[in-house]
Amino acid sequence: MKPSIQKLQKIFKLEADRGYDNHAVMGGLDRILDVWVNEAREDGLPDDLIQFVSDRIKDYGRLTEKSRAEMLQGLWRRIQRGETEEPTQETVEPTQPAMEEIEASADVSPLQELPEIAPTDQMESMPPFQASPAGATAQAMIQEAVQLPPLEPKALSAPLTAVRGIGERLAANLGRLELHTLRDLLYYFPRRYDDYSRMKPINRLNYGEEVTVIGTVQNISTRPARSGKLKITEAVIHDGSGSLRVTWFNQDYIARRLHPGMQISLAGKVSQYLGRAVMENPSWEPLEQEPLVTGRIVPVYSLTEGVRQKWLRTQIHKVVSYWGPRIPDYLPEEIRRSAGLMNLPTAILQAHFPDSWESLRAAQERLAFDEIFLLHLGALGQKRAWKDRAARVFSVDPEWLDAQKQRLPFPLTNAQQRVISEIQQDLQSGKPMNRLIQGDVGSGKTAVAAIAIAVIAHHGAQAAMMAPTSILAEQHYKTLLNLLTASYSQPDMDRLNSNATPPLRPDEIGLLIGATPEGEKQRIRAALAAGTIKLLVGTHALIEDPVEFADLQLAIIDEQHRFGVEQRAALRAKGDNPHLLVMTATPIPRSLALTIYGDLDLSVIDEMPPGRRPVSTFVLTPRERERAYTLIRSQVEQGRQAFIIYPLIEGNDHNDVKAAVDEYAVLQKEVFPDLNIGLLHGRMRPDEKDAVMEDFRQGKYHILVSTTVIEVGVDIPNASVMLIEGANRFGLAQLHQLRGRVGRGAEQSYCLLIPDHPDAAENERLQVMASTNDGFVLAEKDLQQRGPGQFFGVRQSGYAEMQFANLTDIRLVEKACRFAQMLFDQDPNLTRPEHQLLAFALQQSWGGGKGDIS
Ligand code: ADP
Ligand code: MG
Repeated sequence: MKPSIQKLQKIFKLEADRGYDNHAVMGGLDRILDVWVNEAREDGLPDDLIQFVSDRIKDYGRLTEKSRAEMLQGLWRRIQRGETEEPTQETVEPTQPAMEEIEASADVSPLQELPEIAPTDQMESMPPFQASPAGATAQAMIQEAVQLPPLEPKALSAPLTAVRGIGERLAANLGRLELHTLRDLLYYFPRRYDDYSRMKPINRLNYGEEVTVIGTVQNISTRPARSGKLKITEAVIHDGSGSLRVTWFNQDYIARRLHPGMQISLAGKVSQYLGRAVMENPSWEPLEQEPLVTGRIVPVYSLTEGVRQKWLRTQIHKVVSYWGPRIPDYLPEEIRRSAGLMNLPTAILQAHFPDSWESLRAAQERLAFDEIFLLHLGALGQKRAWKDRAARVFSVDPEWLDAQKQRLPFPLTNAQQRVISEIQQDLQSGKPMNRLIQGDVGSGKTAVAAIAIAVIAHHGAQAAMMAPTSILAEQHYKTLLNLLTASYSQPDMDRLNSNATPPLRPDEIGLLIGATPEGEKQRIRAALAAGTIKLLVGTHALIEDPVEFADLQLAIIDEQHRFGVEQRAALRAKGDNPHLLVMTATPIPRSLALTIYGDLDLSVIDEMPPGRRPVSTFVLTPRERERAYTLIRSQVEQGRQAFIIYPLIEGNDHNDVKAAVDEYAVLQKEVFPDLNIGLLHGRMRPDEKDAVMEDFRQGKYHILVSTTVIEVGVDIPNASVMLIEGANRFGLAQLHQLRGRVGRGAEQSYCLLIPDHPDAAENERLQVMASTNDGFVLAEKDLQQRGPGQFFGVRQSGYAEMQFANLTDIRLVEKACRFAQMLFDQDPNLTRPEHQLLAFALQQSWGGGKGDIS
């Protein structure tokens, strides 16, 4: 026996002795591969055998113990045969094997069909080597693979060139659609569907309808159009009831494929030409073929250059009808049944080539269910993994906590109190907090965060707060400086009661944004590493710069929907299992939030500070702009201030979107020459922005003209008018954020929305703003109108990537999450054999799990 084989035998034996726990080799069996592959080569083992062994062992760790036993046995048999036999000739065509040949090389058998093999605990008791018939082919050998664990058929990872009819060039074209493997093609679902399932005789056609017609080609010819380059192919089709003239433009190949006397079916829209029914550019196919593009609901795929619809449809049909039924369904049968779902192979087939609209809907429901189910299952695992970690305990004396709350310049609302105590329980739990605070704009999230920071600072540890813009970071810096270092009420008590001592000194709070001068950055970094800065407020500069904390114990992320999951993970990674608090003003229904943010605990601030008056909102047409100006003027006369928001920074010639810079000039010169107007936009230097904001805050400007840099979190209580131009360009949730910039004082405030065009539909959409001040209602509308991808922003990876799931379908979301929870409770690590496929699917959809998902 060759030394490399001997080595494997030893390892396999040891592994069997240990009950297949994947510990025969430290770190897992796959660790031997690097060394072993070289040894095997030196021993002269055939390459395909080496490859085979490597492939199997790579997967070993993923298998259940039972599957491991089976796998090692199968592998051992294969090794023995490979070593003793004369090398055989490969019979599989190397270039373009047909489907049937791909099948032969795949392990397609689902779990249920696996022969029962009792796990053996001794290598010696493995089945003895059995000589295979002389001349056994590579295929026959690979048949062994059928014994292997029931993962997805391996062939699905085959490159597209494995499909007969797809060569290198076409495969490269498909690559531009991110289609590389058979699996990619299976999961490349149609962009839309055309319904040609309605068949009609020609004499019953109506103009404008989409139908399928079956008939005989009477004549067909191609001629150049009068106007030049265009080539027109014309045919007449007859079906006994009448004849139909058909035209194709620039597809003269059709004239070479269709001949008089041929039976074809045509699908398309009926139009009229000189009073007669005609069809332009219909889909067609010869009649004897299985109908793909006519007489049915036809899938329409997104294309790229060099990929034609009809061709792609044919390729996908080939792959789907062969491989669809061979895909094992990873969803446990009982879940599938009690959730009333279509099985996966059928769903894939029906999503491509639906038999009816009804079965298409069922297929889509199944695929949507899976998306949510897998995401939530992953989130539950993630949440538990975090909860398994230990975090520093931050308990506090209740009297101290009370005194700290007393120090704030206002009494906390009940909702704020409740959320603070939820946070406090997390902080003293010994497990890392992972909490999302949801609260509408102006509900007072910052004060809650301030108390959490106070607790951490009280113990001498560090906290960090990250905000999406430098304006907001600076505002937080100032607010927190006030809340945490100064003492507001009851100055006398301060002296008597040490509980009311401010938790921080001003020099213990740092601000780090992109514009912070390099020297200052260095000082901050040094102070952080030394632990003398206890609270660092900033933008993503916090995670981009080589910032190191001495002892980061609390990471806070404001307006979390503006950040990606990686950025959140990056901030968290600055400490050793720090407590995490994320805050958002994007209100979504609680049930939905619980499922979407499955990996976070949820707190809701569902109460506004007292004395707020709802903002009065009006939608104006562009012609009514004067009324808006009148209102602004009268508010300014009463000592208030106004925002005017534009969608762009500078205008361009191509459209009429109002731009802040241009309009600022007009407003200052023509509309309000007697008032002071400030200008703010994202292209200004941060110190300029800062100065403008500060001047506005101090009342030096009556009006601030701005782009949406102002959107997030800015707090100017004296402002009472928010005029938004080009309002149709914003989502409702964003408009609600903008509107939240006013109405912070006790006086009546106004929000005026002016769309670019007096478009009725837009007006109707915007009217929702006028009808409610409730962020939850608006968020739900926004979700319906724009879909989750837009709503959550592209950075919200998990949900944005969903193809089928619609998060407004709360029923489905809740159902999928409920089943995920049920399964998680039964088998959290998916170790049961019947969950192996699911474990694999989960791993695929999570791509290894990046840590954060929501
Ligand atoms: P958001 O939740 O949108 O981040 P902020 O934390 O910026 O809201 O608070 C909005 C405004 O409400 C601030 O001016 C803040 O000082 C004030 N505020 C917060 N809590 C209270 C309260 N309990 N009573 C009165 N005013 C409050
Ligand atoms: Mg805020």
